Amino acid sequence: MKTIIEPFRIKSVEPIYFTTKEERKKILEKADYNSFRIKARDILIDLLTDSGTSAMSSNQWAGIMQGDESYAGSNSFFKFEDSVRSITNMPYIIPTHQGRAAEKIIFTILGGKGKYFISNTLFDTTRANIEFSGAEGIDCLCEEGKYPSVPAPFKGNMDIEALRKVIKEKDASNIPMIIITVTNNSGGGQPVSMQNIKDVRKICDEYNIPLFIDACRFAENSYFIKLREEGYAQKSVPEIARELFSYADGCTMSAKKDAFANIGGFLAMKDLDLAIRCRNLLIITEGFTTYGGLAGRDLEAVAIGLQEVMDENYLQYRIRSIEYLTNKLIEAGVPVMQPAGGHAVYLDAKAFLPGIPVEQYPGQSLVCALYEEGGIRAVEIGSLMFGKYDDNGKLIPAQMELVRLAIPRRVYTQSHIDYVAEVILEVFKKRKELKGLTITEETPLLRHFTAKLKPLN
Ligand SMILES: *Cc1c(COP(=O)(O)O)cnc(C)c1O
Repeated sequence: MKTIIEPFRIKSVEPIYFTTKEERKKILEKADYNSFRIKARDILIDLLTDSGTSAMSSNQWAGIMQGDESYAGSNSFFKFEDSVRSITNMPYIIPTHQGRAAEKIIFTILGGKGKYFISNTLFDTTRANIEFSGAEGIDCLCEEGKYPSVPAPFKGNMDIEALRKVIKEKDASNIPMIIITVTNNSGGGQPVSMQNIKDVRKICDEYNIPLFIDACRFAENSYFIKLREEGYAQKSVPEIARELFSYADGCTMSAKKDAFANIGGFLAMKDLDLAIRCRNLLIITEGFTTYGGLAGRDLEAVAIGLQEVMDENYLQYRIRSIEYLTNKLIEAGVPVMQPAGGHAVYLDAKAFLPGIPVEQYPGQSLVCALYEEGGIRAVEIGSLMFGKYDDNGKLIPAQMELVRLAIPRRVYTQSHIDYVAEVILEVFKKRKELKGLTITEETPLLRHFTAKLKPLN
């Protein structure tokens, strides 16, 4: 059978809300041309993020009823711990309310002025938590990962040579950790190969630097390894995931991604000493060590979701649905990140809108146009998100200007996706009419969440 179908049926539905184009123009203006400032009630198809937006399964909802809300030693915690351990094989597992809480703890402990954290690409909250500690984040993404139109199987790989160079330059003693993000969210949801993880591990051993995995999409990455890397076709996704984690000293995880949960996360590690320091900080900022800022019911949802996400029927459908939209756009000549990533379709705004210079945020202009045209909410992953200023106040642009259409897990049907393609093609037809934007208000860290913008001329 060639047709890949949704491996579930729908038991509970929720309405989506229709608006007219005239209404959306006004909504955009009121939201200061920032999609984070638009009310969810005013969105038709919400592709802002795949974070916390998954549809939970009937099993997860049943687990929620079984949540043990005991302050200490909750039964739900032990289910959670077993589930995480069965995948990561790490002895020390610390629940947190989401991924960035895990990041805050680990970087508060290991970060600080004069320290450097090296990654394939740091996610926005990861980078912000590193910088907030006073340390610096450095990305060493492989060359092919930097060009959206160049297809390659593992565009999330670390550039091994660049990594060596940075270690020599900054000195290993100033590098508390190397972080591999799987899949590479800010670089198009592209996977990292097992070979690359092994190569990085070797360097970590050579210089005695711990290796952590930013594991938000470990199942999607494992499935890509199964599909694309020699020697893995016959292995199961849980086996591949276990191998992947075996090379790491620890991981941070947002359970709002590959755990189908609406909230949650964790830190896991092999080092007892570090775990004790993390737990001490957890108790001050998140909660007791057996709930870490979560309700017992949330721990249940995560425990069950982590196992469900490794189902290969699910992963086949998941990866195929992203590929379906990506290929539709490629066929129509729309510039997109190739090949399709694991959780989102990324439009290449630089190529989509060559007339808008990076200082005028072409990605954000495209985000606004998608909303105005069809009520679709996307997010800019470019110079609005990652741009910095030099000493003269001139913008230092991001490497790429992408617009991410993140697909929530198990939420939208194929006709929703067909509609999304139709809207993008309509905007593509009118692309010469789009205008750039300028920022009128911003914060120093994570400015894209709250910035206000206005269209130029
Ligand atoms: C979402 C995400 C995080 C942060 O997790 P939150 O649960 O949103 O705090 C960290 N890294 C990556 C790669 C992510 O996608």
